[in-house]
Amino acid sequence: MKNDLGKIFQAASYAAKKHIGQTRKGKDEAPYINHPLEVVNLLTNVGNVEDANTLIAALLHDTVEDTDATREEIAGQFGEKVASVVMEVTDDKRLTKAERKQAQIEHAPHLSTEAKQLKICDKISNISDIMKNPPDGWSVKRRLEYVEWGEKVVNGLRGVNEDLEKHFDKLVAEAKEKIQEEEDEE
Ligand code: NDP
Ligand code: ZN
Repeated sequence: MKNDLGKIFQAASYAAKKHIGQTRKGKDEAPYINHPLEVVNLLTNVGNVEDANTLIAALLHDTVEDTDATREEIAGQFGEKVASVVMEVTDDKRLTKAERKQAQIEHAPHLSTEAKQLKICDKISNISDIMKNPPDGWSVKRRLEYVEWGEKVVNGLRGVNEDLEKHFDKLVAEAKEKIQEEEDEE
């Protein structure tokens, strides 16, 4: 356990350094690291996930996509399993934005259990952010499209963690209601 905790905090520190200077897209301009920390928080406290590799991969999940981190560096510091889960949730940047979104829907059912649990939490975190701190300039239509796309991805991830799935479904229902109310006000 002490060894696992040591690795988990090493990953938190690694991710914080990699994401230095980056902010979330919302109006509160929160430091980017808040998001991987929220994903690991959801995994442990909502999903009751205790597997250290999953928690470490969650902390690192956006480093290859958004920073100079590499698969090799992660494999060297945190092991092959962590590196492979991080790569499973890393978008292929050679694809267009629309292709990446479609690829996430298509790949979801084929991910490992670790990556599926992580990805449900990633979508929970992003949809909560969209409700509380939507990216600047996102219309009601665009927010709703994001929530509906998130649902399509998560539908392919089901069957790995009932608590996370229930949490996601409740959040989506609330998000749709809130977005609908805002549309009615417009
Ligand atoms: P994204 O959908 O890629 O932006 C959302 C992503 O940004 C999230 O998945 C999350 O990813 C990250 N993020 C950072 N901060 C926040 C936050 N506060 N709230 C939520 N997510 C956050 O948008 P892009 O700008 O890249 O546009 C891509 C797509 O949007 C296009 O495919 C296009 O179809 C669509 N689009 C729709 C428009 C419309 O009006 N309907 C207009 C323009 C584009 P992570 O977990 O990696 O941090
Ligand atoms: Zn993410």
